[in-house]
Amino acid sequence: MADPVILITGASRGIGAATARLAAERGYAVCVNYLRSQSAADALVSEITRAGRRAIAVQADVAIEADVVRLFETVDRELGPLRALVNNAGILEQQTRVDRIDAARIGRVFATNVTGAFVCAREAVRRMSTARGGAGGAIVNVSSRAAQLGAPGEYVDYAASKAALDALTIGLAREVAGEGIRVNGVRGGIIYTDIHASGGEPGRVDRLGPALPMRRGGDAIEVARAILWLLSDEASYSTGTFIDVSGGR
Ligand code: NAP
Repeated sequence: MADPVILITGASRGIGAATARLAAERGYAVCVNYLRSQSAADALVSEITRAGRRAIAVQADVAIEADVVRLFETVDRELGPLRALVNNAGILEQQTRVDRIDAARIGRVFATNVTGAFVCAREAVRRMSTARGGAGGAIVNVSSRAAQLGAPGEYVDYAASKAALDALTIGLAREVAGEGIRVNGVRGGIIYTDIHASGGEPGRVDRLGPALPMRRGGDAIEVARAILWLLSDEASYSTGTFIDVSGGR
């Protein structure tokens, strides 16, 4: 049987890249989506193909519907029928308070973190649903503990977008549970990636890590392992649920 095909959005760096590497190790053919980091995405694809698995890199902005449609069509054409989607692409902006956030910023954060995930999920369901002739599949949405903690003083807009993503996870899971598709979420805690630099504090994990119950920040691979477990048949009776990967926070 052909390798199962997985699409991971925002896989050029961080949690997405760790998930792509692990998915390849577990036998998936991998689509590495990225926004701007073409050389990092190409390097990751070379690494995966050298290890003997199929992989492609596809530039697409998940906030743009036509890009998402093209992304999924490219996967259909170049890798084959989709079995797994990881809605991982996500952004946050400069740390600030709600009384300094404008509507344009909220729009940007929601366009990527919420609308992007919705449209990707739509395209995945259209392909995977047994009610539409598909073979079933699994979706994991990469959320954050911020959805429940609110990220006060940092990025409440980002936290709200992740709460919306969690609602998508629950609602869609129930909508397609009878159509062979499982939908789950992983809520990351404070993980070593570049995302903190985009909030204006590259050292955020080192600052906050020691105060966590586990006394350290997390690594991207620790999030990736939870994602791959939820995608696997080991999680065959789990849908609409979440794993917190947050060191006890
Ligand atoms: P990161 O290191 O900043 O990487 C973000 C990835 O998303 C990059 O591959 C980037 O592509 C891609 N991306 C951004 N906007 C995109 C768009 N519009 N379309 C397509 N791709 C886009 O972030 P990360 O920390 O790995 O975060 C991954 C996910 O985990 C996010 O959803 C984030 O909210 C979530 N999360 C992270 C943490 C944490 O502490 N790191 C905690 C909880 C949840 P380019 O490289 O091309 O720019």
